Amino acid sequence: MPEHTHEYDYVVVGGGTAGSVIASRLTENPDVSVAVIEGGPSDVDRDDVLTLRRWMGLLGGDLDYDYPTTEQPRGNSHIRHSRARVLGGCSSHNTLISFKPLPSDWDEWERAGATGWGAVPMEAYFARLKNNIVSVDEKDRNAIARDFVDAAQSTLGVPRVEGFNKKPFTDGVGFFDLSYHPENNKRSSASVAYLHPVMDERPNLHLFLETWAYKLELDGTRAEGVHVRTKDGRELLVKARNEVVLCAGAVDTPRLLLHSGIGPRADLEALGIPVVLDLPGVGENLLDHPESVIVWETHGPIPENSAMDSDAGLFVRRDPEHAGPDLMFHFYQIPFTDNPERLGYERPEFGVSMTPNIPKPKSRGRLYLTSADPEVKPALDFRYFTDEDDYDARTLVDGIRIAREVARSEPLAHWLKREVCPGPEVQGDEELSEYARKVAHTVYHPAGTCKMGAADDELAVVDPELRVRGLNGIRIADASVFPTMTAVNPMIGVLMVGEKAVELIGGDAR
Ligand SMILES: Cc1cc2nc3c(=O)[nH]c(=O)nc-3n(C[C@H](O)[C@H](O)[C@H](O)COP(=O)(O)OP(=O)(O)OC[C@H]3O[C@@H](n4cnc5c(N)ncnc54)[C@H](O)[C@@H]3O)c2cc1C
Repeated sequence: MPEHTHEYDYVVVGGGTAGSVIASRLTENPDVSVAVIEGGPSDVDRDDVLTLRRWMGLLGGDLDYDYPTTEQPRGNSHIRHSRARVLGGCSSHNTLISFKPLPSDWDEWERAGATGWGAVPMEAYFARLKNNIVSVDEKDRNAIARDFVDAAQSTLGVPRVEGFNKKPFTDGVGFFDLSYHPENNKRSSASVAYLHPVMDERPNLHLFLETWAYKLELDGTRAEGVHVRTKDGRELLVKARNEVVLCAGAVDTPRLLLHSGIGPRADLEALGIPVVLDLPGVGENLLDHPESVIVWETHGPIPENSAMDSDAGLFVRRDPEHAGPDLMFHFYQIPFTDNPERLGYERPEFGVSMTPNIPKPKSRGRLYLTSADPEVKPALDFRYFTDEDDYDARTLVDGIRIAREVARSEPLAHWLKREVCPGPEVQGDEELSEYARKVAHTVYHPAGTCKMGAADDELAVVDPELRVRGLNGIRIADASVFPTMTAVNPMIGVLMVGEKAVELIGGDAR
């Protein structure tokens, strides 16, 4: 073996949300060796990462890959997609809102060809999660957020929910469940829950930190390992005796496949990348939860206490035939004016926001390369608000109207001095749609770019055992395998994909 080659039983590419679960679980067996290739540094002892309430300070910083979107003619072209470059991945810089996907989400996956991923069998994987999932602690429940919950409950007639994971729901308002430790506001991210307790104790777990995987090593159709570049510029080949498991996330997993010659033939040929496998679905089916924002100035400062400044939320079902909620709102105890400011709105000194989002958006985007150089970021074209019947934009318009209704109701109304944006003069459907789309933001949930599906679905990239179609010795386990978007925030779904992947890998190894 050449000097620069290392060999392990499994090579996990990406020590992020799903990758941390898989690396931790596989190394429970001391006879199994695992290498984790992680582009970012460790999160151990990093208060800036581990303190949940500091999440906003990480956006756009040196621990963020910070992906731009392509021009969005019907949306906001300025959205930056934050993706964490640190152990624990996005679970180390997100808000850790923790929803078990709804039964209707899993059953939709099953119908989309993900055999074995229905609601009943998936329940077991939630029970296995090691994260400390608890409701926002009493001391973190801000007075204005409490009043938002009361106002929404009384004016919309939706149930008040204490523990969104206790039973399936179609509508409701309440404080979220979070993966955190309320006593010190410390994250219970994937790395904290799965890696920190074991990473210094298991000689069979090898973390390559600040090491970037740029190309797969393939022998015909068998994945043998991955070529990586370390922080100090050394190039290594990390080989897998059993399997390579891609956990680099919905942006970087398809990016790595494409640079390895696995993807839509015509696209690869146009860039001069030798085609190893024509797999047309790689990068397709780019999903997200787009949101808009409505901001109010408050009469004065808001009490300080909070878990992470967006601790409560509201779900509405407008269409009684819909399988789950069809509108969601986060309530922010801050004036979230970053996007409206571009249209000339001013940030009030004190304020709050509601961000309506589309649980089941209909627009579908696409990720593709613009260069054969692996250093060049891929293009992310979400095609926001391009669905034929304009469902996505109409949902946000409904969202703004419902948000206004809640804001007019006590006990929330007396806090609010005026609506800052879009402003009370913006009333018509078209004006509201224009505003909602131009200030649109992302809830940071890209998914679906290597979707799981049945053998006759030519856009499926992995089969229901998460194996990459047409290749051997390689699986994908991260947000990219989502066939459809979960109605709720996706992180717990990603962790459950990790837990199920471990079982599938173990089953094949026996
Ligand atoms: C700001 C923000 C807030 C969010 N809030 C919530 C929330 O409150 N609740 C919720 O449910 N969801 C939330 N999400 C979404 C959720 O965090 C993600 O969907 C989920 O964490 C994705 O997990 P993953 O395993 O697919 O990828 P990641 O967790 O992103 O892991 C990918 C890992 O791979 C590494 N990597 C990537 N490419 C390479 C490479 N080529 N070589 C080596 N390493 C590589 C990265 O450094 C990273 O550690 C949020 C996301 C963001 C960004």
